[in-house]
Amino acid sequence: IVRSPQELIGDLNEQQAQAVQFRGPALLIGAGAGSGKTRVLTRRIAWILTRFGAWPSQILAITFTNKAAAEMRERLSTLIGPVAQRMWVSTFHSACVRILRRDGERIGLKSGFTIYDTADCERLVKLIATDFNIDVKRYTPRQILARISDYKNGLTGVRETLAQYAPDFRPGTRGFRIGHIGNVEELYAIVYAEYQHRLALANAVDFDDLIVRTVELLRTQPDVAEYYRRRFRYILVDEYQDTNHAQYVLVRELAGVDSGERPSSDAVGAGRQGPAWITVVGDSDQSIYAFRGADISNIQDFEQDFPDARTIMLEQNYRSTQTILDAANAVIAHNEGRKPKKLWTAAGKGAPITGYAADTAQLEAHWIAHEIRRLHEEEGVRYSDVAVMYRANAQSRSLEEGLIQAHVPYQLIGGTKFYERREVKDALAYLQAIVNPADGINMRRILNVPKRGLGARAESMVTVWADERGLTFWQGIEQADRIEGMTTRTLNPLKRFAAMMTQLRTFAAEHDRQPSQVVAEVLAQSGLLEELQKSTDPQDQSRVENLSQLQSVAAEYEQNTPDATLAGFLETTALVADSDQLPDEAEDTGKVTLMTLHTAKGLEYPVVFLTGMEQGTFPHSRAMEDTSELSEERRLAYVGITRAKRHLYITRAAVRAQWGRASEMMPSQFLDEIPDELIDWKRREAGVERMRSGWGRGSDGGSSYGRGDDWDAGLDEFGGWDDGFAEPSYGGSAYGRSSYGSSSYGSSSYGGSSYG
Ligand code: ATP
Ligand code: MG
Repeated sequence: IVRSPQELIGDLNEQQAQAVQFRGPALLIGAGAGSGKTRVLTRRIAWILTRFGAWPSQILAITFTNKAAAEMRERLSTLIGPVAQRMWVSTFHSACVRILRRDGERIGLKSGFTIYDTADCERLVKLIATDFNIDVKRYTPRQILARISDYKNGLTGVRETLAQYAPDFRPGTRGFRIGHIGNVEELYAIVYAEYQHRLALANAVDFDDLIVRTVELLRTQPDVAEYYRRRFRYILVDEYQDTNHAQYVLVRELAGVDSGERPSSDAVGAGRQGPAWITVVGDSDQSIYAFRGADISNIQDFEQDFPDARTIMLEQNYRSTQTILDAANAVIAHNEGRKPKKLWTAAGKGAPITGYAADTAQLEAHWIAHEIRRLHEEEGVRYSDVAVMYRANAQSRSLEEGLIQAHVPYQLIGGTKFYERREVKDALAYLQAIVNPADGINMRRILNVPKRGLGARAESMVTVWADERGLTFWQGIEQADRIEGMTTRTLNPLKRFAAMMTQLRTFAAEHDRQPSQVVAEVLAQSGLLEELQKSTDPQDQSRVENLSQLQSVAAEYEQNTPDATLAGFLETTALVADSDQLPDEAEDTGKVTLMTLHTAKGLEYPVVFLTGMEQGTFPHSRAMEDTSELSEERRLAYVGITRAKRHLYITRAAVRAQWGRASEMMPSQFLDEIPDELIDWKRREAGVERMRSGWGRGSDGGSSYGRGDDWDAGLDEFGGWDDGFAEPSYGGSAYGRSSYGSSSYGSSSYGGSSYG
């Protein structure tokens, strides 16, 4: 299908059309939420293909999620036909996996390398901590991994950190005891070095490594870099505000921006010479992944970073009503050091924002659920047009309960993920160990699952023996009969395990063997399935179903993938994200969607509920004392508000359980930042404030909550009703008392004092 120009830009506004057609080496489409950035990016790809005459293989398009990639590919298919399927439209991580699968050998990554998920990485750090005598209560694996991740996102290598903090440490030193450790930086540097060392031995990478090792590959192997620079003539990145330093460097390397050649700016396009043409799309006000290393300066400095860069701003919003935009603009205006943006819509004022203050989180959920039902029954709103958003996953529980009680169907995005379930992870560990026997983490995981008499002692005997000889854990198992002091009670099951794994590997390697067949064989031979089937625990029945589900997933993968391989299947399971559970945009699932604000990025819904608008919930308690973190929370609020097309609800609870106890919650400062006239409060004051401003117990809302529910429990925390709340205790919250005690509790009465 060759599209006429009119079909690609006819329904766009002037700036959008300009951005689609722009000819030049570097373009930033910077614009506020809902202004059509993603739409323009998609059209631009179609334009480059049809008007610049590029081949699909010359285009690399990066999206923030797999889901967004699939959607973009789908749109492109309708615009330009099935060639779109052959194009690289993917996340940074999947693109890197592809590159590493092809050429990773060059930097020591053998084919079939394993991608460790967070749990695998934590296990690895725990192993190191044990060997090095590190107190994991004081230095949790999570905390250590966060630091390692920071290093990687900033492209700080092991050599650098060792030179700076632990010049005498050599990774792989057996029997190293860290007991004498001087400072925590030294500890981080040492664990980082050892962690990388063991990943390399296991032929494994973590998520961050996918980017870092690809950069390494491109930087150290000029011919590989050259290959991709010739290939990708157009690189386009959506959600650029959330790229980290490593990803920024990756884009530069792939494009060849630093190769010294001048970009071509001929009329044809990037053609075959000079660096690739780069288009990035983003909104610095929507940068919400600083905790994962996102570096907002990537987008802020774009014009300085890329020669001959141009910026096109989009100003018309096509998503929301003016009321919703006014609220979003007002909130984000409180962030300092940003470029003010104009954002307008032709959609008209629309309905006011609906506000609701509940006495407890349970009552907040109750109200939301019934309001959604009312919308559905009285206003004909489809359930799938409604999204309920929250700051933290933990908030979903009460919301779910509310929806269940009100019989409102919903789908929760996130939560316990399929691939993280124990039995699924066990089965996957078998598959990983088959593909990559060097992978000690997965091999250890399955050694005694199901139980076969190979406990911690057997594991440690093999480990010590193999380590001393510089062998992998698997090699230790294979040669178990040479390990001194091994009793036949241990040796026999070890031998059986080794024989079974070898047999499974042979089975998997046979010609034309499909991944789903290997899954079936593993489930049968390993005894995983049998153990669960024999069990009388009803939980184990659902585990059996999950395993059968895994087999179906593998079969589905085969159907959708021309060159299906076991390693390829494992890759898809490793790169799954929360957002992948989202239904397709057009689909009417008949269900309300529940998700965190982070997951909601890039999405839109006719009706949005922003819940838990309380100090300490949103903004998160961690962020309230720190200006830059508070700015990030505010950007998250901006993201949340701008997801709504027609109708926005903002709700809060006066009492919420935190750390197992009920805490009094103050209204979020973000509520204060929304102009009063935009909000129609169905119920404005709750909890203590309501008492203070003269609402007697039960005089109004009394009927909406019953005695003995969490509301009462919450109040007991504060000394009960009779105390008149003179000295409420704040349950360890981070805000000061002074801002609270006033009796005329208006939304403006605290705004200036402690947050200004
Ligand atoms: P975000 O910042 O949230 O990622 P965005 O800038 O990427 O938003 P899009 O998702 O591309 O915005 O567009 C927002 C909505 O506006 C979509 O429903 C899109 O189809 C619609 N839209 C964008 N441009 C136009 C246009 N010119 N005419 C009609 N609808 C448009
Ligand atoms: Mg977008």
